[in-house]
Amino acid sequence: NREIHLVKRPEGTPDHEHLSIVESNQPQPAEGEVLLKTLYVSVDPYMRGRMSDAKSYIAPFQLNEPISGGAVAEVVDSNNQDFQAGDIVTGALPWQEYSTANGESVRKVDPKLGPVTTSLGILGMPGLTAYFGLTDIGSPKQGETLVVSGAAGAVGSTVVQIGKILGCRVIGIAGTDEKTSYLTDTLGADAAINYKTENVREAVKQACPDGVDIYFDNVGGEIADAIYPRLNKFARIVQCGAISSYNVQNDQGPRIQGYLIKSSALIKGFVVADYQDRYKEGFEHLSKWLQEGKLTYEETVKEGFENIPDAFFGLFKGENLGKQLVKVAEP
Ligand code: NDP
Repeated sequence: NREIHLVKRPEGTPDHEHLSIVESNQPQPAEGEVLLKTLYVSVDPYMRGRMSDAKSYIAPFQLNEPISGGAVAEVVDSNNQDFQAGDIVTGALPWQEYSTANGESVRKVDPKLGPVTTSLGILGMPGLTAYFGLTDIGSPKQGETLVVSGAAGAVGSTVVQIGKILGCRVIGIAGTDEKTSYLTDTLGADAAINYKTENVREAVKQACPDGVDIYFDNVGGEIADAIYPRLNKFARIVQCGAISSYNVQNDQGPRIQGYLIKSSALIKGFVVADYQDRYKEGFEHLSKWLQEGKLTYEETVKEGFENIPDAFFGLFKGENLGKQLVKVAEP
């Protein structure tokens, strides 16, 4: 049984020196517990925050203990009457090939709803983040202009599509031409900007002749700085993420206050767990749109438990299209 531990807290960009693969004995399920074989692991940008011990909304990972996060696993042995061998479950699980869990920390995945990996993407945490951030904070109205950064990732690609479903004009920003083509050709974005090859300020001006009503921000930094001057009266900024600054100390940029005042804009941060009481509603909308073919999704899947660290590091290099996963084992 292998585990992946945090062995050193990164100050800048995380690398192999911060994570270590450790051999351990296969755990045994106690009374009321199940033994789980990990099938898929989700790597997520928020995990970078948990590697630091700064105050946050969620406790930091402990040094020399396994990282934990969203995963899909198979029940291979059960001392819990609610689960039997062969059940597929999802929940926050340690980065271990085998782990134990009590029935409360995992829930069964219904394979009839789609591939089980969707519980980590479009029908899971990233999908819900997109749904609640856009509908609740963004309050989109027919004909409004929505700009999405990090638009080809797990959250962003869902925001782009929900924006189209709700009648917005949608502009996506991403880091490769393959991604911008995906945004316009597959997801139906009205325009897309490659922030690595284009002048974002100019490109946003061109792509948004009527200004920006909603900015769904996944990245912060210079891309966000390029949007603020284009905000319309009563614009809404959905502050979902700021990945451009996760590995940067003392990040600085233009001041935003003047732009907020000028445009009477609203900016609101959130974590998806704020909407815990409404997950069922979000899930129902997402699965209905998926079944109707109004939503689609991509997954980038790395193979092998030992490649979890590289899959995680890849998020900061833009290696993923859609949801980044690691396949650890066959059911
Ligand atoms: P993604 O699938 O979007 O993966 C990260 C992507 O970010 C990369 O593919 C890369 O795409 C882009 N990126 C990386 N570094 C930079 C940079 N310096 N500048 C601009 N873009 C960069 O991840 P998620 O969809 O899981 O998460 C997206 C954002 O949403 C993250 O900021 C995350 O922290 C946040 N989030 C917030 C939640 C909440 O509850 N508030 C919940 C879930 C996610 P590219 O090639 O385009 O650069």
